This record gives sequence, C-alpha cells and structure tokens, in this order.
Amino acid sequence: MVNKHLIPRKIDNKKLLEAFYKVPRHLYVPDRFRRFAYEDYPLDIGHGQTISQPYMVAYMLDLLNIENSDKVLEIGTGSGYQTAILAELAAEIYTVERIPELMITARNILDEQGYKNIYYRVGDGTKGWEKAYPPTQEFDKIVVSAASPSVPQSLINQLAERGLLVIPAGARRSQDLILIEKRNGETIETRHGGCTFVPLIGSEGWDAE
Ligand code: SAM
Repeated sequence: MVNKHLIPRKIDNKKLLEAFYKVPRHLYVPDRFRRFAYEDYPLDIGHGQTISQPYMVAYMLDLLNIENSDKVLEIGTGSGYQTAILAELAAEIYTVERIPELMITARNILDEQGYKNIYYRVGDGTKGWEKAYPPTQEFDKIVVSAASPSVPQSLINQLAERGLLVIPAGARRSQDLILIEKRNGETIETRHGGCTFVPLIGSEGWDAE
C-alpha cells in the first residue's frame, strides 16, 4: 500500500511512511472487507461510516507535520486506524467519536495493540475535548475526519499558538481540505484540494439527516 499508493503520490515524510508500514490496516476493517484492506479507498465500517482512504489519511497528517512531542486532538475516531497512526507519531492522542459502538470496537483493537498514549471520549467532537478527562486546554495539532459546513469555533479556540488544524469543510457531499494555522491569536487559512467525507454531525457541524 505504501509503495503503491503513498510514495508515488508524493508522500515522502519518512516518519509518516514508517507509521503506515507498521500499523496493520486489516485489523481495523470488518472481516468481510479484509481482502481490500490495503487498497486505496474508504471501506464501510457500519453505522453509515467509513474507514478513510489511506492516501487521504497520509495527506492530512503530512499537512499537520506531526512532531513526536505533539498533543493531538482527533475528531471522528471511526475504525481507530488513523488513531493508531497518530499514536505512532505523537506524544498524546485525544480522540472523540459520536457513535459509541464504533468507539468500543476501535478502542478494543487499539488496547489489544498496546497503545498507552490515547485518551478516548464519546460525544460531540465539534465542541472538541470539552468536559472530558484528562482536562486539557490546547492541542498542537487537530485533525477532523468528517466534513463540516465551516470550521467549528470551539476547535479553533482549543488550538495552541502556532498549532495546525486540518478539516474537510464545505457542502454536505463535497468539500475542500482546509489547513488552519494559529499565529499571534489569528488564524491563517490555506486550501489543499477537493475531498469527500461523511458529515460531521453536531452542534457546530451538520444536523443529523
Ligand atoms: N479516520 C477515521 C478512520 O479512518 O476510521 C475516519 C472515520 S469516518 C470518515 C468519520 C467519523 O466521524 C465517523 O466515525 C463518524 O461517526 C464521526 N463523527 C461524525 N460527527 C462527529 C462528531 N460531531 N464528533 C465525533 N465524531 C463524529
């Protein structure tokens, strides 16, 4: 998968590629789709949700330039695959998922894989790491894995100075990948191409259909 789908598409961050080599994607995919686990497309994980396309995970994390000292907030745990990649790269991962059944499945796999640097919360991730344990104010990096009509203000508020946030934002069925950097309390926004994600459902996202 790495040699066929990531390196030819200009993902060349060595640490990121190592994490992709290390994390077995088939563990995070339902049994009936395991034979497709190393293809470059999203797969159904139930509850109307998907495990993201590997290239898109790599592209988003490449934009974030994850450092090993980073505290990272992930919105949309889903299968837990991207959470595992993040846990290989950063110091602490705080992950939020709104569907409890998906969180239970993801957490079981991540626990079995021995990750000790992940904190979990079931709830509305548009509000970030709100009223969750351990209490934490700010994140160096924030990655949102579902599509929002706009960038939730709560997430901008929880981004550290010089921090980076990546989010698909736009219409419900097609979006732009947006990178936000916080500098001197202001946000600088750049756009990184079109994409299609499932909706981010919550008080600062979309209503459930
Ligand atoms: N990176 C994940 C993966 O590879 O498995 C992506 C999962 S999927 C594309 C997006 C996830 O975001 C879904 O599991 C969905 O339930 C979740 N989601 C949607 N709205 C949410 C919200 N407000 N808070 C937390 N999770 C949310």
